[in-house]
Amino acid sequence: MDLTTVYDCMSSNLGHFSVPTGVLLAGYITGSGGVPWTNDQWNHNPAALRIDQSPIDTPADETADILDVENAAATLASIPQWVHGAWGSYHASLRPGQRTPTIYMSRNTVTPVVNTLIAAGITSGVNIWLAAPMTSAMAADQVTHASGPFPIIGVQYQFLPDHDVSLFSTDWLKNVSGKPVAPPSGPGSQGGWHFCGKCKCLFFFAEESTSHCAAGGAHDGSKSHDYMLVFLS
Ligand SMILES: [Zn+2]
Repeated sequence: MDLTTVYDCMSSNLGHFSVPTGVLLAGYITGSGGVPWTNDQWNHNPAALRIDQSPIDTPADETADILDVENAAATLASIPQWVHGAWGSYHASLRPGQRTPTIYMSRNTVTPVVNTLIAAGITSGVNIWLAAPMTSAMAADQVTHASGPFPIIGVQYQFLPDHDVSLFSTDWLKNVSGKPVAPPSGPGSQGGWHFCGKCKCLFFFAEESTSHCAAGGAHDGSKSHDYMLVFLS
């Protein structure tokens, strides 16, 4: 299984550590003080994972990739509404690039979260981002061998002063909403091309999260029309 390293951090820590090529960032869309990322930070990191840590669910929160369930963050009671809302947002492509609903939790919160999901009639379609100190090899093993109705698609295994380190399933990262329409039948054309708002180039939107924009980070096709290219051979 292909894995991707993710660094998550508060807004106030972004820029205070180096980010190697190929590492994806994760930040907060909610919170107070130095926690939530600024619009400028999101614009510079369009493929970054979006974490909602608010105990109060709003439609904007439901465009996040992750619900952070822990003390002083989102509550168990807020999970079912967020999951339904996040799936609705994903299917409607309210935020192209959104990943499928995932809940962040520590190991001792897994059972309460799973019990909450099942009590609400949610028996699949939710992933787990597990926070637990371990080696990177152990984290890779957890993600690679994940199974069951609520698979572990990421493990946050290293906790540093200004950011944390996780390994994520690359397949989960790439499975984003707003995917290009299927190419129309017949030879000679391919749909799913978007203009990047940063470098003004056309690129294949399905590969946005792993693309390399000349303006830095990944291309941003979120504000583009969907283009079809004609090919000759
Ligand atoms: Zn670009």
